[in-house]
Amino acid sequence: MATYDSNNIFAKILRGEIPCHKVYEDDIALVFMDVMPQSPGHALIVPKAPSRNVLDADPAVLAKILPLVQKIAIASKKAFAADGITVWQLNEPAGGQTVFHLHYHVIPRYDGKPLQSHSGKMEDAAVLKANADKLKAALT
Ligand code: 5GP
Repeated sequence: MATYDSNNIFAKILRGEIPCHKVYEDDIALVFMDVMPQSPGHALIVPKAPSRNVLDADPAVLAKILPLVQKIAIASKKAFAADGITVWQLNEPAGGQTVFHLHYHVIPRYDGKPLQSHSGKMEDAAVLKANADKLKAALT
């Protein structure tokens, strides 16, 4: 397996070198909106510790991240009046991964509505900001 490359886009977001629509941050992780949402409100939970994906992650980080994934999933269902939530975590190109810093997708779902394509269309900044604000509000 390839090694971790600290020049990946999420590492740059974590270092503040590239902007994001932030929802939540603590010592463990940063949560922000996916710029190419597969459903409105699609969020990403990104652990701060460097790892490519779940295959090389520290189990201690994994143990701390899942409660946060749950918290965001619950808030997302409420914020976007979703019927369900898809939680995704992809590993290596063969597993569909395109950004090689561990992250979890939290995607609002609606009965009978298919997802938009993965890494498909860039969303307007105003929409991403509005959705980040909705998700933030549902967390409090
Ligand atoms: P993966 O395929 O690695 O599981 O998912 C990477 C996700 O990151 C995709 O859903 C894609 O839309 C999103 N993404 C790619 N580049 C950026 C970016 O610069 N900013 C944000 N916020 N999301 C990104």
